[in-house]
Amino acid sequence: MKVLTVVGNRPQFVKAAAVSGVLRGVHDEVLVHTGQHYDDALSGVFFRELGLARPELELGIGGGSNASQVERMVGALAGVLAEVEPDALLVYGDTNSTLAGARAGDVAGVPVVHVEAGMRSFDLEMPEEVNRIATDRLSSLLLCSSEVGRENLLREGADGRAVGVGDVMVDVALRWQPRARERTADVAREYGVEPGGYVLATAHRAGNVDDPGRLGELFRLLCAIALRTPVVFPVHPRTRERLLAAGLWEGLLGAEGVHVAEPLGYAEFTALLCGARAMLTDSGGVQKEAYLAGVPCVTLRPSTEWVETVESGWNTLVDLDLAAALRALERAAPLERAPLYGDGHAAERCVAAIGEL
Ligand code: UDP
Repeated sequence: MKVLTVVGNRPQFVKAAAVSGVLRGVHDEVLVHTGQHYDDALSGVFFRELGLARPELELGIGGGSNASQVERMVGALAGVLAEVEPDALLVYGDTNSTLAGARAGDVAGVPVVHVEAGMRSFDLEMPEEVNRIATDRLSSLLLCSSEVGRENLLREGADGRAVGVGDVMVDVALRWQPRARERTADVAREYGVEPGGYVLATAHRAGNVDDPGRLGELFRLLCAIALRTPVVFPVHPRTRERLLAAGLWEGLLGAEGVHVAEPLGYAEFTALLCGARAMLTDSGGVQKEAYLAGVPCVTLRPSTEWVETVESGWNTLVDLDLAAALRALERAAPLERAPLYGDGHAAERCVAAIGEL
């Protein structure tokens, strides 16, 4: 069987790192990088560190509006599909590359496989939510990270297409977190903080950084928290660009207790996560990784698709409400942490399900 895999940005490289090796053990894979994330800190470093095969094809499509990016990707992928003639097209998550892959596969009549299917935040303001729903509608095989995801799909009428496999990011996290823990103290000190004595922060969702008002709230929240507990903040290029444009970048660099860093490779980031007192994030994947690491998470969004982390008491949704964030950071971690998203062998189940297409 020949599988064309479409990836394009940071979380997809992590997910593909779990599946690609297993897939290549059984089938032929052609990996296409759309170019959505192209700089080394968000792309190259993940291929090197996580042992992901170099893409066979690079489309070099980044920048522009979401709509123009998706359209350009769909056009380029149509050509790739005609040339490669795969038996299936594999996409991950909820980005422009995911949607473009699903649309191109659909038009070409190639069965689309969606990994991380059925996740819903029920917030249609998020471009990612629209991408998730559209991709699921276009997919022949829906591989779900959680039972909640599978139930969402069954409610939407996806009988027969939805299969629970567990979460492929968990496969990677379970492999990396034990190693990362050994490096935590060294890496923390490199970034100027003491193990267990800092908050790790990431923020890049359009809803938080594109609107100058919301960006200002995010900036004030980070600075206020850092006055109580040091904050290590590896800044996503999109966020950096918005902070620069809003005239807030210098203020962030000079803010007491804020340790600004470049976006980190997976190994360093995981080391910092494992040693953090808490995680402050608007990322999807990081909410799961914090749970797995036993680090309380405070999520800078009003909703999440990873609802189990909230129900278990390990994750608190605060949006950009500073008082709520401070209260959440004071809360003691729950005593229990059930395995929520599988056993670290989701990739094998994905590949088995693809083989049955
Ligand atoms: N990550 C990383 N370095 C960083 C920030 C995040 O390696 O500086 C990793 C993180 O461990 C997770 C993934 O990137 O595996 C999450 O990506 P992102 O937050 O960009 O995407 P989302 O999950 O929100 O779609």
